[in-house]
Amino acid sequence: MGLPKLAPAQAAHDKLKALGILALNGMFDEMDALGVLRYAVSDVLPGDLAIVSSFGADSAVLLHMVAQVDPSMPVYFLETGKHFRGTLDYVETLKRQFGLVNVHAIHPNPDDVKRFDPEGNLWETDPDSCCHIRKTEPLEPITEQYGGWVTGRKRYQTTERGVLPHFELTSDDRIKVNPLAYFSDADVVAYRQAHNLPEHPLYAKGYKSIGCAPCTSIVAEGEDPRAGRWRGLNKKECGIHYDFSGAIANPMKAANRHTLWKDGAFIADPFKEWEEGADASEARYVHVPLPVFLANRAAFLANPHPLGLLIVPGDKIEEAEADLSRFASVAIKFPSFSDGRGYSTARLLVERFKYAGEIRAVGDVLQDQIPHMRRCGFNALVVTHEPTREALIENRLPEMTLFYQPVGLTEIPLGTRPFLRRVS
Ligand code: SF4
Repeated sequence: MGLPKLAPAQAAHDKLKALGILALNGMFDEMDALGVLRYAVSDVLPGDLAIVSSFGADSAVLLHMVAQVDPSMPVYFLETGKHFRGTLDYVETLKRQFGLVNVHAIHPNPDDVKRFDPEGNLWETDPDSCCHIRKTEPLEPITEQYGGWVTGRKRYQTTERGVLPHFELTSDDRIKVNPLAYFSDADVVAYRQAHNLPEHPLYAKGYKSIGCAPCTSIVAEGEDPRAGRWRGLNKKECGIHYDFSGAIANPMKAANRHTLWKDGAFIADPFKEWEEGADASEARYVHVPLPVFLANRAAFLANPHPLGLLIVPGDKIEEAEADLSRFASVAIKFPSFSDGRGYSTARLLVERFKYAGEIRAVGDVLQDQIPHMRRCGFNALVVTHEPTREALIENRLPEMTLFYQPVGLTEIPLGTRPFLRRVS
């Protein structure tokens, strides 16, 4: 092949990158799915390409091609915890039959599930958030390890996918390869028959597009195969394919765009800011300002969605003491570097109210404050200040060994003078 090898590192200039993708997309016959995949594996991103498969109704076709090209290609399966038993069996069937030796199940973070979906019914009230914690979040650290990934998406599936090319450049400089972009439903069926591929156990029962069990239903004869996904909701994608240059498909979100620092990394933030006038009974994943909560307490308590509470200087957290367990997160605002009232609020939450949820600092969060924040009980930070972001990523926070005001129960060497108090 005449094209040079494309790798994200080479593609420094947007225009050149776009031209490279255009050239790639002109190289293959529309139906040459195997050729697209072979070239992607051997020339475009050798050793740097993975596939995310749903092991759904159509998955056997692409996985069969993967097995022909490179059976050791990493295959990731989003084990959301909500799949049909038949899908889990199908994973094993295809692994065995195709000789795929590098299949991995990705599970949601158990803490996120416990926190945001303790009853396991978030799909019912807030499917976007459910997909976020069960698919998008667990997938991000995986996809970030690769220069690109292969998808089984096809043009005919949805209007949004109607212009899907073989190769896409994502907004974080990775390449998505869509070998089946031009396949129709009939092409898929024909390929399956030609190669005698095993059928998903639910396909014959009328499930033509198969995802998680609660969000998948049987489709009628002649109905769009994807009509059975999130039926009745204005939702067509799970979130892992959104946001591609505002047009086609979405790539992985770049980690450096996240502002929520938690458990040693910047991660996607499920929470948004409260919008004035929003409906208390419908709100979800927002930090509700304390006065708004107090004024609409009954509605917020009856609201089934995950919520947070926003505390700004001057608010009295005590006023919400009885309801703190309602909130998955408490955001404490630091309007300026010099305003220390937020530290006291965090200490009240931890030491007096035994609040065990997320306590996040928002606002003017700077490097030098972070050790103090941690001592006072903050376990999450929203950081937009670039030098502070870099310091966190590079683990360059100022060390604090002496303190004047002890916090908590373990840090108080009673009877010592302030200048002798040390962080143990
Ligand atoms: S498809 Fe349904 S159950 Fe699966 S993660 Fe999305 S909302 Fe949740």
